[in-house]
Amino acid sequence: VNEFLERIDQHTDLNIFLEVFAGDARQRATVIDEKIQHGTAGKLAGLVVSIKDNMCFKDHKVSAASKILEGFESLFTATAVERLLAEDAIVIGRTNCDEFAMGSSNENSAFGSVKNPLNTSLSPGGSSGGAAASVAANLCHIALGSDTGGSIRQPASFTGVIGHKPTYGRVSRYGLIAYASSFDQIGPFGKNMDDIARVMEVMGGKDEMDSTSSSRPADDHGDLAKVEGPLKFAYYADVLEREGLDPEIKAHIEQKIEGLRAEGHTVDALEFPYLDSLVPIYYILTTAEASSNLARYDGVHFGYRSENATDLESTYKKSRTEGFGEEVKRRIMLGTFVLSSGYYDAYYGKAQKARNLIRQKTDEVLADYDAILLPTSPHTAFPLEQELSDPTVMYLEDIFTVQANIAGNPAISVPTGTHSNGMPFGIQLMTGRFEDDKLLRIAKMLIS
Ligand code: GLN
Repeated sequence: VNEFLERIDQHTDLNIFLEVFAGDARQRATVIDEKIQHGTAGKLAGLVVSIKDNMCFKDHKVSAASKILEGFESLFTATAVERLLAEDAIVIGRTNCDEFAMGSSNENSAFGSVKNPLNTSLSPGGSSGGAAASVAANLCHIALGSDTGGSIRQPASFTGVIGHKPTYGRVSRYGLIAYASSFDQIGPFGKNMDDIARVMEVMGGKDEMDSTSSSRPADDHGDLAKVEGPLKFAYYADVLEREGLDPEIKAHIEQKIEGLRAEGHTVDALEFPYLDSLVPIYYILTTAEASSNLARYDGVHFGYRSENATDLESTYKKSRTEGFGEEVKRRIMLGTFVLSSGYYDAYYGKAQKARNLIRQKTDEVLADYDAILLPTSPHTAFPLEQELSDPTVMYLEDIFTVQANIAGNPAISVPTGTHSNGMPFGIQLMTGRFEDDKLLRIAKMLIS
């Protein structure tokens, strides 16, 4: 803990932590140290974890990187965090992110953007940019992030670490500040697959407090080194041919594919005619859910209240106008629009049907194949400010990651190469729903 705290102090310029729980962490470390000596310590004794600032931790501030939650303190602890604490993990602080997890560069934070630890002029990715950077800069062992449309996998790729988005329903969302409830999942960032597996064993499983959590018990991943092979992989031919995919990333994936074939695995190119529909489906449905989820921030119940308000209505209006950032407001408006009468069927209803279709197609592929292989992102980390001016350019960042959230499947990004520009990039794997165990095994095989 002391080593991590020292390094955190040396790296404040990266703007990774919104708050460091130094006193708490030291105290817990002492208690856990004693437990270790008495042989009574939990499975994660001494594991130092950072939490994205959209997870509740009782009696600690939580802001979702928004001004609207100014001064708000959690009244309870998120189940995922609670379970780690129960096994003697140590929470070292809360990490910066895009406001309400909306973004792909961490620049939508009310507290300024996080800098990529590998090159400070670049974005660490988003929305869990602080989480990814906290692992990449060795400021903790494990970071908890959330992934609604790639927010764990893309920053993992940009910072050279592992990022796992579990199957929807694998990890309880209780205590996770909602962005788009039918997409959101909590998952870990780490530097090795075994840490990821140990954390998932503790964090997963049924939670009475989240009706969308699966009744299946948490996975027991055991020794990840064993994979039943030979395996069958699929990739989408149109993904690799896509304009905008960095040629070096493309070449690297082609090389990986050849390598897998040489090892005796099957790798087939498939057609996936829905690639261009994924981002529109994602943004229609997530903004719709967000507009509803964010209605609760009214200047009365939580956090920030405008000082310029004169009556109830102006309290709502002014608090929301002053409290929410630009991107969040854009999404609330978009979501309200797609849900409005007269447009509902044309946008929201249609996107729901398209979501079902994507889910079906994904199931069909994964009935025949063990895993789908994809780039995580079309490119390596981009410069800060580069994509801020055009929100649709930023939305297109998510092209390869949102399928897993639309369909609810587990997916992981593992570091796979270094670009000639010096930055790392990840390769993404997706398996069938609740095949998280297989996913982690194949991921381990791919990195080793
Ligand atoms: N970039 C996506 C968005 O802005 C993903 C966000 C996320 O996964 N939380 O919605």
